[in-house]
Amino acid sequence: MSYKSMTLKKGKESSPDRFHPWVFSGAVARADKGLEEGDIVRVLASDGRFLGVGHCQIGSIAVRILSFEDRLIDRSFWTERLTAAYQMRLGIGLDYTDRHNCFRLVHGEGDFLPGLVVDFYGSTAVMQAHSVGMHLHRQEIAQCLVDISEGKIKNVFYKSETTLPYKADTEAENGYLIGEDTDAVAYENGLQFAIDWARGQKTGFFIDQRENRMLLERYAPGRKVLNMFCYTGGFSCYAMRGGASLVHSVDSSAKAIDLTNSNIQSNFGDDARHTAYVEDAFKFLDRMERGSYDLIVLDPPAFAKHRAALKNALQGYKRLNAKAFEKIQPGGILFTFSCSQAVSKEQFRLAVFSAAVMSGRKVRILHQLTQPADHPVNICHPEGEYLKGLVLYVE
Ligand code: SAH
Repeated sequence: MSYKSMTLKKGKESSPDRFHPWVFSGAVARADKGLEEGDIVRVLASDGRFLGVGHCQIGSIAVRILSFEDRLIDRSFWTERLTAAYQMRLGIGLDYTDRHNCFRLVHGEGDFLPGLVVDFYGSTAVMQAHSVGMHLHRQEIAQCLVDISEGKIKNVFYKSETTLPYKADTEAENGYLIGEDTDAVAYENGLQFAIDWARGQKTGFFIDQRENRMLLERYAPGRKVLNMFCYTGGFSCYAMRGGASLVHSVDSSAKAIDLTNSNIQSNFGDDARHTAYVEDAFKFLDRMERGSYDLIVLDPPAFAKHRAALKNALQGYKRLNAKAFEKIQPGGILFTFSCSQAVSKEQFRLAVFSAAVMSGRKVRILHQLTQPADHPVNICHPEGEYLKGLVLYVE
């Protein structure tokens, strides 16, 4: 095999031996000359034993392991992994129906493909590379997506301008690797959402809140709902369908509010129950009257993008939740989330607990939420669990 190798320090083989897909740079004793970011590299123990093969990276993670078997990373590798991801989705009931045509096909480490994210929206796959290695394989992966999808996927949009390591200087451009622009409408549980993957956030839509939105729908009848950080208005549409008496959507981005309004329009027409506001969340919560809402959703962007920002992030969650506790009507329900990977479930819960104490409200946990099954967590890589939610009853 012609791949270059990297040898770990003595004792550092325990992590790959437990199938953790990241090799940290501090574990590396030496590497073959000429290894470049994005190259395929074989990782060896200090005694020369093969441990794994993966993509080489510059930074604190030196290798993202693709396979713990000594094999070629070739077309058949990509076909095998993507087919397994696809079959897993079908096996748990996530196929397309006339009411539903989107799911996440690849969730990085959770699908044994570290550095790769793929979402299916109708006939388009939106693909994001988070490593130079995945970027270099983009054409091959795109073709495999078409091949394994049983005719579903005709277009592959590549969106890695902002996800690739900034220093890698790949000059990746967003655009179609295969096919062309189509009418981008996703159907989720019978609701329609226009998806703007080219200009929108992430891959264009937050598929990861699908099941949590369904839960919200159950609590919506007769309630006055505030959907804070609404983006495309996902929670708002479910609240409307669930029979909320009023739904207010708030986002600081005017583009997000346009998307929300157009999604409400296409599902409910001119329904006077809905109003959307372009405003900062903290300002909106400060000026709103106490008791205006009895169902509030707080789904902010990741406050901690990395560990160094953890302390400020926890303060941010505490401040935000305290404002909601202060203002929610007695008997109200708060759906509160954190999608920061660096914040653990316990830390988030503690921040929300502190906010409840600060506000002097009596708070009980009704549900503890997480990411759905098409965002699986590899049991050997607990870092893959990122979405945390609490549904709270506030007296
Ligand atoms: N709940 C959404 C996803 C939220 S993404 C869904 O289900 O699809 C986070 C959103 O927060 C983005 O749309 C972003 O524009 C918005 N945002 C970021 N900072 C904000 C702020 N300070 N106030 C209000 N909205 C903000």
